[in-house]
Amino acid sequence: MNHHFTFLAAFFALSLATLSSFVSAEDGNRADTGDWSIAVHGGAGTIDRGAMTAREQASYKAALAAALDAGSDVLKNGGTALDAVQAAIVPLEDDPKFNAGRGAVYTWQGTNELDAALMDGETRQAGAVAGISSVKNPILLANAIMRDGRHVFLSGAGAEEFAGDAGLERAPPEWFATQRRLESLERMKARLLSAADVDHKFGTVGAVAMDQDGNLAAGTSTGGLTGKRWGRIGDVPVIGAGTYADNRSCAVSATGTGEYFIRVGVAQEICTRLRYRFRAEMDKAQAAVPLGEDGMASYMVHASEFGLAGDMVQEEVDAVMAEVKDLGGYGGVIVVTPDGHAVFSFNTQGMYRGRATSEGMNEVAIFADE
Ligand code: ASP
Repeated sequence: MNHHFTFLAAFFALSLATLSSFVSAEDGNRADTGDWSIAVHGGAGTIDRGAMTAREQASYKAALAAALDAGSDVLKNGGTALDAVQAAIVPLEDDPKFNAGRGAVYTWQGTNELDAALMDGETRQAGAVAGISSVKNPILLANAIMRDGRHVFLSGAGAEEFAGDAGLERAPPEWFATQRRLESLERMKARLLSAADVDHKFGTVGAVAMDQDGNLAAGTSTGGLTGKRWGRIGDVPVIGAGTYADNRSCAVSATGTGEYFIRVGVAQEICTRLRYRFRAEMDKAQAAVPLGEDGMASYMVHASEFGLAGDMVQEEVDAVMAEVKDLGGYGGVIVVTPDGHAVFSFNTQGMYRGRATSEGMNEVAIFADE
């Protein structure tokens, strides 16, 4: 025990900010605390308060809350982060308000082509799918690809064939088609607008979670951008761009102008920055431990008793989103860390989002100032 106190005293002297990143040694391994955490998103963009009725706002919030509850229930009951992420995403894919599964945006040719990805932070196994049009829940196909394990990323006709072999539920084109999204495409064609002009808000869906075993997972699902052409694939199914999970650092799901997220490698960049920040903060803490008579550190700081504070996580995540903005891209991310921090960052007016933790946090929000 004594060395813990020595360590704490040294730590306190170092700085209050650093102290807040200390996770009590009594907590033991960060992986067995029984804590859990989850965050969901339903897209980011120009979400104007004035342009949304109270009823519309309530209906988006109810959908986000239902997805959050579905994921939280899995985690509360000791289920895996992977299962929680899928449980949260499936209802959002089925909800025509969001640009994923049913309600997906239209390609230039007037079809709905879906992308999705799922990643397991424990094993760093991943499954991704692009340009599919007959699988009711693309996130479940990503899961099947991941579990099969032979490949990570399938596209188009081959992916559809794989879905058939895996026995996944299919849906006809009418299931995905919605009038609202068709009108966006028509407006775009008539006035030669960009996807950002007609969509304003992206509507992609995603979830990230940490389960009671300390394992992380991330999943994202989308119809992409209105009017996309030439077999365009966005960031969502590109592992490391729109979706990434690694138990050592974080789980990330993104939404926004996919091309920029691919170019920055947003999701993996966030995880890498957090991994190095963790290491740097731990080294700082070690350097603050007093030396014993033998000139050696009287206490060795161990990774299992150390965590990054929420504000440090936020700083790193914001830095990557600032890079996206500098290049001209916009959108947002949700991030969960091994310490259970659930963090948002977006450079748009709003992001449909929600988060819940075993500590009792449970909230959904739309606008930046909420
Ligand atoms: N990121 C998605 C894409 O570029 C779009 C979105 O987030 O809605 O395909």
